[in-house]
Amino acid sequence: MNIDSTQTPIVDLRDLTRTYQTGEFAVHAVRGVSLQIRRGDFVAIMGASGSGKSTLMNTLGCLDQPTSGDYVLDGISVARLDRKRLADLRNRKLGFVFQSFNLLSRTSALDNVELPMLYSVPMISYRERKQRASQALVRVGLGKRQGHLPSQLSGGQQQRVAIARALVNEPELLLADEPTGNLDTRTSIEIMGVFQGLNTTGITVVMVTHELDIAAYCRRVVVMRDGRIISDDRNDSPRSAREEIQTLDAAEQKANLA
Ligand code: ADP
Ligand code: MG
Repeated sequence: MNIDSTQTPIVDLRDLTRTYQTGEFAVHAVRGVSLQIRRGDFVAIMGASGSGKSTLMNTLGCLDQPTSGDYVLDGISVARLDRKRLADLRNRKLGFVFQSFNLLSRTSALDNVELPMLYSVPMISYRERKQRASQALVRVGLGKRQGHLPSQLSGGQQQRVAIARALVNEPELLLADEPTGNLDTRTSIEIMGVFQGLNTTGITVVMVTHELDIAAYCRRVVVMRDGRIISDDRNDSPRSAREEIQTLDAAEQKANLA
């Protein structure tokens, strides 16, 4: 899908700051970030540890409110919303993926994916919940593992479950904070393939990574340092995870035959 530059941006951060007050100290985690993200884009946020990436992501995800500045999400100014409206907005528009998967361990893949729908207003029927959870798992290539517990799945499969969970309310914006941080190289490429596939269907993706190799799959790379954006570049020739996996598979097959 092409990036639509005519519509209002899905994300519009206006001179955003976030200061944590810890005892006598103030930590200026984000120090005035202005950033617009167009629908359909695929953005990597990079930067050293402590540069404010997660703080920024939490704001984008409406998990945290800015100290100053404004965040306009799909035309809605987030700073003025109360908790209930914020939760509603989050549930309708956003999906989250974390480095550590955050799955419930005694709960099947299907039931993990179903969770976000339990809080939906209006209520979604049992049958529809199972159906949608199942479709989301198929979408991330886990159609055959629905009854498995997280402990019966590999790291990459667990992350796919987490992505399916993030997708189940059909978000417009998918936020992922170091989603490949706990995964080996091949699995990381596979997960990037899942994100690239979703991005092709129109979902805007914003992810944090500190690996250049991973950022190379994205279409735009924003670098932070000390709470500010220090560079913001388009990547006109992103790596294709699907092609690379095909190449890896072919090489593996050849090695097995030899
Ligand atoms: P990154 O994700 O790039 O590693 P973070 O956004 O987690 O950076 O942190 C940015 C800065 O804010 C760091 O100095 C960190 O210690 C501080 N920080 C993050 N969260 C909190 C918090 N809840 N309370 C106090 N300081 C925090
Ligand atoms: Mg972080």
